[in-house]
Amino acid sequence: MLYVDVILPIPIKNTFTYNFPQSLIDNLDAGMRVTVPFGKTKIQTGIVLHIHDEKPAYDTKEIDQILDEVPVINKRQLRHWFWLADYYMCSIGEVVRTGLPSAFLLESETLISKKQQEEEKEVDLTDEEYLIVEALERQSALRIQEVQAILEKQNVVKQIQSLLAKDVISVEEEVFEQYVPKRKTFVRLAKAYETESSLNALLEELSARANKQREVLLNLFMLQAQTKKPIAPKKLLKKSDASDGVLRALLDKGVVERYELQEDRNIFDGETIAISELSEAQEEAYKAINQSFQEKDVCLLHGVTSSGKTEVYIQCIEDALKQDKQVLYLVPEIALTTQLIGRLQKHFGHQLSVYHSRYSVHERIEVWHNLQEGKEKAQIVIGARSAMFLPYSNLGLIIVDEEHEASFKQQNPAPRYNGRDAAIVLGIQHKAKILLGSATPSIETYHNCLTGKYGLVELTQRFGNVPMPKIRYINLKEAYHKKQMTGRFSQELLDAIKHSLGQGEQVILFQNRRGFSPVVECTTCGVSPQCTNCDVSLTYHEYRKQLRCHYCGYSIAMLISCMACGKETLDYKGFGTQQIEKEITKYFPDYRIQRMDQDTTRRKHAYEKIIERMVHRKIDILVGTQMLAKGLDFSNIGLVGVLQADNLLNFPDFRAHERSFQLLQQVAGRAGRGLKQGDVLIQTYDPSQTTLQVLKDNDYKQMYANEIEQRKDFGYPPFVKLIRITLRDRNYQKMRQAASWYAQAMRVPFSTQVLGPEDPAVGRIRNQYLTHIMLKIPSHHSIKQTKDNLQRIHNQFESIRGFRSVRVVIDVDPI
Ligand code: ADP
Ligand code: ZN
Repeated sequence: MLYVDVILPIPIKNTFTYNFPQSLIDNLDAGMRVTVPFGKTKIQTGIVLHIHDEKPAYDTKEIDQILDEVPVINKRQLRHWFWLADYYMCSIGEVVRTGLPSAFLLESETLISKKQQEEEKEVDLTDEEYLIVEALERQSALRIQEVQAILEKQNVVKQIQSLLAKDVISVEEEVFEQYVPKRKTFVRLAKAYETESSLNALLEELSARANKQREVLLNLFMLQAQTKKPIAPKKLLKKSDASDGVLRALLDKGVVERYELQEDRNIFDGETIAISELSEAQEEAYKAINQSFQEKDVCLLHGVTSSGKTEVYIQCIEDALKQDKQVLYLVPEIALTTQLIGRLQKHFGHQLSVYHSRYSVHERIEVWHNLQEGKEKAQIVIGARSAMFLPYSNLGLIIVDEEHEASFKQQNPAPRYNGRDAAIVLGIQHKAKILLGSATPSIETYHNCLTGKYGLVELTQRFGNVPMPKIRYINLKEAYHKKQMTGRFSQELLDAIKHSLGQGEQVILFQNRRGFSPVVECTTCGVSPQCTNCDVSLTYHEYRKQLRCHYCGYSIAMLISCMACGKETLDYKGFGTQQIEKEITKYFPDYRIQRMDQDTTRRKHAYEKIIERMVHRKIDILVGTQMLAKGLDFSNIGLVGVLQADNLLNFPDFRAHERSFQLLQQVAGRAGRGLKQGDVLIQTYDPSQTTLQVLKDNDYKQMYANEIEQRKDFGYPPFVKLIRITLRDRNYQKMRQAASWYAQAMRVPFSTQVLGPEDPAVGRIRNQYLTHIMLKIPSHHSIKQTKDNLQRIHNQFESIRGFRSVRVVIDVDPI
């Protein structure tokens, strides 16, 4: 008997062993999918990990069926996925669940169909097999349960497998059955007429009677010579101003032939343009990166906003392609990168694939298959973090753009991985080079550069030597005191907006929403309406006149009077982008104002439309949230205004200063990318804060110096590693008990490295109480041993009956 260890996409650490008959040995390989019985009635799809002949200590069940003819996951992927499971302390099944497009794992009803044979082969079939094949001749596909009915027995897997082995039928998941690649027809000159001389002979022959045919032929010849791209019949006829009949005549004569190509849903059909010539500074950076790659795997390109990092990446991509290597280009949020994709497509055309979690299943599977088959169109893949799970075979370069972005981290579900870090590991496994890029690198990455672990290359000037934007602060305390405020706007900011608009420039207004949406408060008793499920105040949403919870979605109609004291003295505290939009419309009624935040970009293409209108200067003032900070490239922004910087800086998190510096720097970077220096005006209650001072001087290095000292003094990354354990339960008492058990158990091996349990700012979400325990691992401690210890404690915890309902989440390197 032979055995196979199968990974099931579930949060259980071990793999599961099944048996299978000897006869299938040639049909089974690591990385293929199989369906297996699981539990009493269920069928699960799993991934074959290992085939062997060691009988486990328990009775095994037999696998149901093999879904693939070739592995869907290659060995390199498995290796990376095991690293993820190990490092982020989750099951390999959870990684599989995240890594594979969900369609690959559907426990769908499997279909079988008869294979189309070139010629009828003589195959020996058993009676039962014959019955199945006969049924398949009448009906193109059968479900497993229908086969069960035909044979009047429960277990039909063997018969199906045998037919598979005899190559008579194929097994397909329904998803694949439906997946029909789009095919498109093109025309070309028949081989015999491809040379000029043979064509000339033909043309002469045609000239007398068939002038139109002659023209079509000539055009086809020219098009073929000019472009390597396939030629669509429509295009050819249009160019020759000829009718279908003319082409048909040529086809009949065998002079022109038709052929089909599979068309990608996401195909690029514009013309590609040559790579821009690099500026001197870019050229130097590019050389320095290559130099650094000679010695180190990872290099950071630290280039100020608008320094032209993208063009440098493009050059590096070009080099990797020349060596026949694959390139992975990771971005924090693919939805916000339409401009970038456009730029890359211009250079690389159809060699670029976009992998997008919002794309349809079909489109994602297409990219997967293209990579699996090593197709040219999947030489470069751009995508968010999930694009790293694709079946690369030959990566040469990984670019992680905006490497500092927190959204590279997956919060839920497990694996809670950091896309940047996991990409670095992936790159090293492929012996590829990894290029990180940012205008405001993360403290961790910069630290790795200064300690020599990563290479560091800088671009300190903007492209075209446009000066960096000029940042000024407006003291809100003074402005209120001197009565120079109109609503949320200081007179100075209003004047600047007016000036900029007067010059025909566009204006961006930034209001961070995080923790700062308008909350309603009673001015008599001070009470704010709270969510019933979470421990947070509800926030006011203007356009529906609703109070909503940002954690669970709970909502009620806006109140007229205070729930606590009954007085009609409710007032707004704080403000969001909606308020800003409303106010600014009042002050500048003659200008076109647009808001960009999660509410206005929810619909498909809404985001692209705003960008497009902005590029074409159909918007004068754009009001928005963080979204504005993400790599937008507009050339006519005269002014960026930040309504209030303080709430960012006062966020209770050790990364608050780093984050606000990054965010404000990125927002400011939208100003003046064209030819002229841009202005940035930031309203704040305290302009003297150190973060704001270093921001003003665009002094990243000073920010880093301040921050790294704090991190060292207080024991935060990069000087320690953090693991955060979150416990959750509906019952507060039980949650507390569980947390104190857990923390106490942790203190045995880890003593003072354990902090907490400490209740977070929001202590209840969706009716679940939660608390955090933090583990700090000094850099000289063994991470592996620490994790082993923690895992042991965790397993012990899970075996305690009283704590069964408590959910525990382990987050390695939390953000
Ligand atoms: P970053 O990513 O560093 O913020 P970008 O790559 O977006 O900067 O470049 C800023 C602007 O300068 C873009 O509009 C880009 O087209 C232009 N640019 C950069 N490098 C070149 C170059 N070598 N030739 C022409 N234009 C360039
Ligand atoms: Zn809520």
